[in-house]
Amino acid sequence: MARPTKALLDISALRHNYRYAQRLSDKGRAIPIIKANAYGHGAVAVASALADLAPAFGVACIEEALELRNAGINQPILLLEGAFTADEVMTASEQNFWLMSSCRQQIDAIVAAPLKQELTVWLKADTGMHRLGLAANEFATCYERLIHCPFVANDAIVVATHFSSADDLSDNTTELQIAHLLELTQDLNVELSMANSPALLAWPEARGQWNRPGFMLYGNSPLMTEHDAVLPLKPVMTLRSAIIALREVDRGESVGYGRTWVAPKRSKIATVAIGYGDGYPRHAISGTPVWIKDQRAELVGRVSMDMLSIDVSHIENVAIGDEVELWGTNICVNEVASYAGTIGYELLARMPMRTPRIVV
Ligand code: PLP
Repeated sequence: MARPTKALLDISALRHNYRYAQRLSDKGRAIPIIKANAYGHGAVAVASALADLAPAFGVACIEEALELRNAGINQPILLLEGAFTADEVMTASEQNFWLMSSCRQQIDAIVAAPLKQELTVWLKADTGMHRLGLAANEFATCYERLIHCPFVANDAIVVATHFSSADDLSDNTTELQIAHLLELTQDLNVELSMANSPALLAWPEARGQWNRPGFMLYGNSPLMTEHDAVLPLKPVMTLRSAIIALREVDRGESVGYGRTWVAPKRSKIATVAIGYGDGYPRHAISGTPVWIKDQRAELVGRVSMDMLSIDVSHIENVAIGDEVELWGTNICVNEVASYAGTIGYELLARMPMRTPRIVV
């Protein structure tokens, strides 16, 4: 019998979420962000599924972009980390990778490259995230250098920024960052790119000619609080496994490594064939929900590398082979993440190769 652990990918949900992101982008365009193996879903599978809809794709680095090109993805690919050497700039120009440049060294590399064909460069401004991006006092010089670079496509350079707190609707930093970018670019003939998923969903003023949704495409809310705008999203990944053992334990007996869970009464415990080696978070605590036979059950004890245990005392007719959903259509990955002290982004991005992705 094949191991029952798999990540099912609902491609129609992915396409639905992308179309929704495109609708929110209004007259602008939405570039699917598919870095970190498309947030764990499989970059090539996701890009192939959106290839007829998306104008371009966004990844972190040149290696991720080359993986997509080598798999036959033809769209322009935006490199969010840009390029640091003239060689990388040459590869970008040959492969139609768009470079997000966010420091003087990257502009130097572009100027130094012996370009023979057009290169698309975006400029990133630091408006408050203080991670990547040009500071206000170096922005104008870099912009000037770029528009005078012969092979840089300069009809309307895209100026981008990234938000630090768009997921928090009570924090006005997003408004300040938008104002900062508008001020910086007010006299320039440029296009703007600001919105990530939370901004696209909840901060209409952040929508620009180019938007960069990532997490929302995979069907879960990127916002800290409830919001009607997330209701249309449909989860793409369902992480599923099955029961491989069943036992009764008496009151006072423990389950799993370290004896962290002790049965408060005689309990029926099911062992499920999934653990932290398959992408389920080891830090999930007892009480984390799973879905079995159309109802919730709870994780008990520590998650092992290949297995975890759930309390199924309240469920009739549980048998070896019964399917268990760890997250997906019935259990939100963000909820599991909250029990593990992290966010849904991390759980998805950390999905290992060991767990087969099955397109449904
Ligand atoms: N743009 C940039 C520069 C990013 O680093 C990211 C992700 O971290 C995104 C867009 C997509 O963000 P999200 O997944 O929140 O939509």
